[in-house]
Amino acid sequence: MIGTKIDLMVDSPSSSTLLKQLTHDLKVYETRFNANDPQSELMALHHCAGVTPITVHDDLYKLIALGKKHSLITPSYLNIALGPLVKQWHIGFDDAKKPSDDLIMEALASTDPNLIELNDEKKTVYLPKKEMEIDLGALAKGYIADRIISTCENQATTGFINLGGNFLSFGPSPKRASGYYRIGIQDPEKPRGNYMLAVDTLNQSVVTSGVYERQLKHGNQSYHHIFDPKTGYPIETDILSLTIISDTSLEAEIFSTRLFGLSVENILSFVNDSNNIDAIIITKDRHIHLSETIKHQIVPLSHAI
Ligand code: ADP
Ligand code: MG
Repeated sequence: MIGTKIDLMVDSPSSSTLLKQLTHDLKVYETRFNANDPQSELMALHHCAGVTPITVHDDLYKLIALGKKHSLITPSYLNIALGPLVKQWHIGFDDAKKPSDDLIMEALASTDPNLIELNDEKKTVYLPKKEMEIDLGALAKGYIADRIISTCENQATTGFINLGGNFLSFGPSPKRASGYYRIGIQDPEKPRGNYMLAVDTLNQSVVTSGVYERQLKHGNQSYHHIFDPKTGYPIETDILSLTIISDTSLEAEIFSTRLFGLSVENILSFVNDSNNIDAIIITKDRHIHLSETIKHQIVPLSHAI
């Protein structure tokens, strides 16, 4: 579901009923946020671009409003209005291609997040140009993970969701006396399931943006799926993956994309100055860079069994 594989675990006297409900909820969220589903509420919004504002579900409204805010802030590589550009490249799909520079420039002309019109009272959203499209691909999984976990918090003693590498847990892990959930951080240069280190977490989310996640190979070039909103090309960086650890999955999602194009030094100083997020950065030279307050939660690979 949601374009990925989802693991869900709950420990509860009524686990199977709860899992059924959560699976149903996941389906509802999928139709709310998916930019590729013709039936989604997001698609309905795109159909009305350049025509009329439409009322959207409160969840969608909140996510668009928050996404707009973080698209306009500095520093930020996040831009939720990047839909027209993302569709041109279509990385991660069978018809992915490198668009011509003309097409890239044309798509970029309809990606200004300032133009997204929000009406807080009526909960309406209006995209004033018909070419405009919102892409919540960088944020929706975080929002959904938070909603799923908050639904099971008062019905279970512990649980986790892993939405294709976007992890959030609550309560103590039944597997370890310490209660920590131990999360492997993928080695960006090896097949999935090979880790470079692990991090012990309690009631936290771990979200990674990585250049290895989805790629398009074109000649001897390879293009990844996180775009620089200024150039229209994949962000150029020495960073192979940026993992953000935070109390909420949405916050981890926001910052794993917002900060992706910054240098290691700038990411670390930003994260060390904010008191709610931590970072693990893996660079092309295979170095691991850590923010200050995550260091005591790190487990070297040799111990990570
Ligand atoms: P993943 O989907 O692998 O978890 P991300 O959370 O980093 O990765 O989100 C990447 C997705 O977000 C892309 O597939 C695309 O739909 C969208 N996207 C790409 N670049 C940006 C950007 N600069 N700002 C906002 N969304 C983006
Ligand atoms: Mg993300």
